[in-house]
Amino acid sequence: MSCTIAIALKLPIYLDHHATTPVDERVLEAMLPYFSARFGNAASRSHSFGWEAERAVERARALVAALVGAATPTEIVFTSGATEADNLAVKGVAELHRERGGHIVTTGIEHTAVLDTCRQLERQGFAVTYLPVPPTGVVDAQAVRQAITDRTLLVSVMLANGEVGSIQPIAAIGSLTRERGVLLHCDAAQGLGHVPLGVREAGVDLCSLSAHKIYGPKGVGALYVRRSHPRVVLAPQIHGGGHELGLRSGTLNVPGIVGFGRACELMAEQGREEAARLAALRDGLVETITAALEDVRINGTMQPRLPGNANLSFACVEAEALIMALKDDVALSSGSACSSQSTEPSHVLRALGLDDAAAHSSIRFGLGRFTTEEEADHVAARVIAQVQRLRRMSPLYEMYRRGSGREPTAS
Ligand SMILES: *Cc1c(COP(=O)(O)O)cnc(C)c1O
Repeated sequence: MSCTIAIALKLPIYLDHHATTPVDERVLEAMLPYFSARFGNAASRSHSFGWEAERAVERARALVAALVGAATPTEIVFTSGATEADNLAVKGVAELHRERGGHIVTTGIEHTAVLDTCRQLERQGFAVTYLPVPPTGVVDAQAVRQAITDRTLLVSVMLANGEVGSIQPIAAIGSLTRERGVLLHCDAAQGLGHVPLGVREAGVDLCSLSAHKIYGPKGVGALYVRRSHPRVVLAPQIHGGGHELGLRSGTLNVPGIVGFGRACELMAEQGREEAARLAALRDGLVETITAALEDVRINGTMQPRLPGNANLSFACVEAEALIMALKDDVALSSGSACSSQSTEPSHVLRALGLDDAAAHSSIRFGLGRFTTEEEADHVAARVIAQVQRLRRMSPLYEMYRRGSGREPTAS
């Protein structure tokens, strides 16, 4: 039975799912009792309130462990998010294993939580290699091999990039780090549930996760820490009551953890299907825009790519001006949420070789679980209209067309 009643779109449409996602109703429902009726402290060992909270946390731990393919739930250490997990992984390895060497290998397109942590370690005397990344946005596993030295402690490469959608060859890198006896950390905050990842098979030793990128609540995440073959030992970065096997002290965020567990369970159930739907919706959006507009460049390779992600540069259009012109229709971002506070071009786009002008004319589209086809169509139509309008007003664009040997556009 088909229903053709047109339902008015609710505007603005949210297309910034790499910055954060809305909490799924089913996640919220699972969390609610743990704010009030079941408010116990999971560390209280002497009464039912504590036991109930602890049971809920352990159920969630098993669900998170299952999604990443951990060998046991004890390999999951809950944190306040992926930023803290990245800090714990990188600093935790560096601090404890310094005598074995002081070298870390990472890439130029990591999240700032990894890059800024590495810069801090450099100030403390560690050496860090930031691998260059080609315009596809995909790191070359052979470049990782060449960068590893006898002094390398850790390689840190993300699963998927939230700006340009590139997916990294983690399993290939994992077999290299295995061979060399170097630990591998993977920030999987983007791509978790959509991009296949089994930490054991991929040879990942440490893996950062975040709930709010997968329709869970903000302020909760986890670090997967391998407990066998090899057993990874870390220096804790937060000291206190000895929670989380001593790796991360602090009273557990029980409602948040319950929500994270439920979000992982939903991803395990529907993540594959959702990825296919989002990729098709995203491809349609890109095709509509590139068919209607000239001088649009797609940043990062389309295959493989994070479903739901597109990143386009519109020649001679200021991304900020375009975003403001579209703000009543669609919520978009010109870079990662962290760098959108500054006017510096995104470090990821720069690492891919974009010049200032191209980086400043780039927009990220982030489709999500609740994005509909009608919404994607509306966004495409509005983007096309606003790019045309801004270009008509731009003397630069006319020069650009002439410079490339073509007539100025009539539109
Ligand atoms: C969002 C994100 C983070 C930060 O996660 P928080 O849970 O917000 O601290 C880290 N790495 C990547 C790749 C991310 O996308």
